[in-house]
Amino acid sequence: MFVRLRTKLTVLYAALFGATLVVISVAVFTAINQVAQRQVRAELTATGEVFDRIWSLRAERLREGAIVLSRDFGFREAVATGDRPTIVSAMENLRGRLSLDRAFMVGIDGSILGEDARRLSADAPHLQAAFDASETPEGVVMLAGQLHQVMSVPILTPDLIGWVVFAVRLDAAEMTALEKMASAPLFASVMQGKPGGTWWAAKPLTGKDRQRLTTLIESSLSNRATVQTLDQADGRAIALVKPLAALDPGARAVLLLRYPLAKALAPYQPLLLIVILTGALGLFVVGYGSWALARGVTRPITELDQAAHRLQRGEEAHVAVTSRDEIGRLAMSFNHMATAIREREQKITHLALHDDDTGLPNRLSLERVVENLDAESATGTFVAALGIERFDHVRGAIGYALAADLLRTVGERLAGLAPGAGVARIDTDALGFVLPASGREAAEAEAHRLLVSLEAPVRVQGETIDLALVIGLAPLDGMAANRAVELASIGLGQARASRRKVAVFDAEAYGDPASNLSLMSSMLAALEAGEIELFHQPKFDLRRREITGTEALVRWRHPVRGMLPPDLFIPMAEETGHIRALTEWVVRRAVADQATMARAGYDLTVAVNISGRTLGEPDFADFAAEQAALAQGKLCFEITETAVIENPELALAMLDRFADAGVAISIDDYGTGLSSLAYLKQIRGQELKIDRSIVKDITVAQRDALIVRSTIDLAHSLGLKVVAEGVEDAGCLQLLSAMGCDHAQGYLIARPQALPDFLAFMAVDQPARHTA
Ligand code: C2E
Ligand code: CA
Ligand code: CA
Repeated sequence: MFVRLRTKLTVLYAALFGATLVVISVAVFTAINQVAQRQVRAELTATGEVFDRIWSLRAERLREGAIVLSRDFGFREAVATGDRPTIVSAMENLRGRLSLDRAFMVGIDGSILGEDARRLSADAPHLQAAFDASETPEGVVMLAGQLHQVMSVPILTPDLIGWVVFAVRLDAAEMTALEKMASAPLFASVMQGKPGGTWWAAKPLTGKDRQRLTTLIESSLSNRATVQTLDQADGRAIALVKPLAALDPGARAVLLLRYPLAKALAPYQPLLLIVILTGALGLFVVGYGSWALARGVTRPITELDQAAHRLQRGEEAHVAVTSRDEIGRLAMSFNHMATAIREREQKITHLALHDDDTGLPNRLSLERVVENLDAESATGTFVAALGIERFDHVRGAIGYALAADLLRTVGERLAGLAPGAGVARIDTDALGFVLPASGREAAEAEAHRLLVSLEAPVRVQGETIDLALVIGLAPLDGMAANRAVELASIGLGQARASRRKVAVFDAEAYGDPASNLSLMSSMLAALEAGEIELFHQPKFDLRRREITGTEALVRWRHPVRGMLPPDLFIPMAEETGHIRALTEWVVRRAVADQATMARAGYDLTVAVNISGRTLGEPDFADFAAEQAALAQGKLCFEITETAVIENPELALAMLDRFADAGVAISIDDYGTGLSSLAYLKQIRGQELKIDRSIVKDITVAQRDALIVRSTIDLAHSLGLKVVAEGVEDAGCLQLLSAMGCDHAQGYLIARPQALPDFLAFMAVDQPARHTA
C-alpha cells in the first residue's frame, strides 16, 4: 500500500494521534453537552417555578380585588338595581387601583357590563359557556383577540346575579419581562387553544417553529410540567411545557419555555475551539514530527537500498556510517560485505581470465581483447594461434612445471614483440594473440617475421630448449571473438596438417564440421561402396633412371561433396578412431594393386602411409606381418618422425616388428617438425623422405638447398636412402641428382593416379619422359 516507509510511518502515527484526538473531542463534547442540558433543564424548571409564583400571586391579587368588589354592598345594590354607571365606575376605580387590564361584569344572562364591554361583545358567547360550566372560572382565555389571565368571582345577593371578572393581559411585553427574570436566554410564551385547533400565543411564534411547538405542546398535555428536547429550524432546543388553567371549557393553556441548546453551549464554545485547535496543532506537530523522525530512520535505509542496487550493478557501493545504532551497524556490515564481494569478484575475474599453469591470460581474456577492438582496427585484424610443436613430448621430457615456464617465456617474448596484442594461452600447447594486418599476405608475412624472433631457443632452468612454432591465422571480419579464436586454432591445425609454418584458416578445406562428423560415420560404408579409391604416385630412382616404387595415396570420391582431399578426412579419421579400418583397407588394396602391377610386369615397392595413431596399436603389427607375407613385392610403411617421438618406446618396438616382417620403413615429412637425430638413429629405416616444403625452393633458396644437401649427407651416413618429395620442375630434379639424392617423387614425374592410369603411364609415358 505504501511504497515509502516514511509515508507509512507518518500516516500511521498521524492516524493514531488523530483517532485519539477524535475520541477525546467526542468525550469532551458529550460531557459538555450533558452538563449544558442539565443546566438548561434546571434553568427551565426554576423559571417555570418563578412563573408559577408570579401567576399565583397575580391570581390572588385579582381574586382579592374581585372579592372585595363583589362583596361591596353599594356595588351589589347597583348591580341589583341595574345602576349601570355606578357599576362601571366601581369597576374602573378598582381596575385603576389594581392596575388591571380589564375589569367587567358578566350577567347571568351572559351580558357584559364594563368600560370596554363593547370590545368584548364578541367574546360574550364563549365567556357565557365558561360561566355555565363553572361557578368561579379562572385561567387563560382569549379576550378581544388577546390572551389574558382571568379571575372571576360570583356576585351573590344572595342569589347569583353575575360575576365580577378581572383580567391581566398576557402579551409580548409580559413574556419578555418573564424571560428577563431568568438568568438564561429563554423564550417564554403562554399559549392557549384546543387540541387539534388553533393555538394562541402571548408572544408571537414564527412559521415553522410554531408548527413544531404546537405539535410538542399537544404531545405533552398532561397535568404535570414536562421537559422535552425538540429540533427547531435554528437547531436543537429544550422545552418546558407547564399546564395552566384555561377558562374556556375544553380549552387548554400552557406556559412554554424554550431554551436553544446552541445558546446553552455558547459559553463552552471557546473551550471546544481550544480543544479542536490544540488537536489540529497536535496533529500537525505529530505529523511533522513523525515525518522528520521517519526520515531520520529511513534515510540510511534508503541509502542502503540504493547502495545494494549499485552493488548489483557492480559499482562502488560503500555507504557512510553515521550512527552507532542497529542501522549504523547494518551499514558497517553492508560495507564489509561490499568489500568482500568486490574482492571475491576481482579474484574470480582474475581466475576467469587467467591460466592457472602459466599465469598468462586465458582464451576468454583474448576474446575480451578482440571484442573490445574498436570497429576501425577490427577490420584489418587477424587472430593468431601460435602452436608449440610437440609440446606434449617436451612436457614429458622436462615436466609440467618447466613446460609451463617454457610456455610463459614464449608468451612474454610474444608480448614483447607485439605489445597490446592480448597474448593468451588458448590451448595446452597454443597461445593466441591479435595480429593487425592490412590483408592476408601482410598477415602471413608478419607471422613469418614473428616466428623468426620467437623460435630462438628458450632457456629453462639452465637447459636450452629448441622451439618449433606454427601459426594459424583467422581474419576477424566482423566475426564473434570466440569464433575468430576458434578458427585461428583450426588454422593452426591446418598449418600443421599441411606442414606449413603459417596458414590462414581455409574454410573450404575445413568444410562444415557438422557434415564432417557425418562424413566419418559414412566412411565405412564408403569403403564398401567403392567410393574410396587408392591412387599411386611413382618414386623415381635418380641413379637407375627408372621407377622403382609407388606411394599409395587414398582418395574419396564422395557422391555429394566430390573428391575429398585426404588432408580433410585423414586427420578426422585419426581423431574418431576410423583410421585403423581405413589403413587396413589401404594396405589390403595396396597389396592387391601390387599384384596387378606384378602381373603387368612391374616389380614395384608399394609404400603406404601409417599414421601415428595406428602405430600405437600393437595388434596392427600382426596384421602388417600377415599382409607382408601375402604381398608379391616389397611393402613399405611411411611413418612420420613425429609419430615416433610421441610414444618412442612403443613406436620403436612396432617398427622393429615391421622390419622383422620384411616391411621397409620410410621416415616421412622430414624437416617439418623438430628433427631429432637421436630418434633417427634408433629407427631401423631404409628411407628418409625430405618434405616438399623444403624441396620445392632449393633452386631459389640457398638455405633450403643447404638443408637438403646436409640432410642427404646425414641420411647416407646413417645408411638411409633419400627420397625428395614435391619435385615439380626439372631444375629441381637436376639439383637433387647432383646432390646425390636417391629418389624423387613429384608432379614432374607423375601426379597420384588411379591404378589403370598408373599402369598406362608406366607402359607409355614414363620411359619417354625420363631419359632426358
Ligand atoms: P604425404 O604422405 O606427404 O603424401 C604426399 C602428398 O604430396 C600427396 O598429397 C601428394 O599428392 C602430394 N604431392 C606429390 N607430388 C607433389 C608435388 O610435386 N607437388 C605438390 N605440391 N604435392 C605433391 P595427398 O595425396 O593429398 O595426401 C596428403 C597426405 O595425406 C599425405 O601426405 C599423407 O600424410 C596422407 N595420406 C594419404 N593417403 C593416406 C593413407 O592411406 N593413410 C594415411 N595414414 N595417410 C594418408
Ligand atoms: Ca607419405
Ligand atoms: Ca611426405
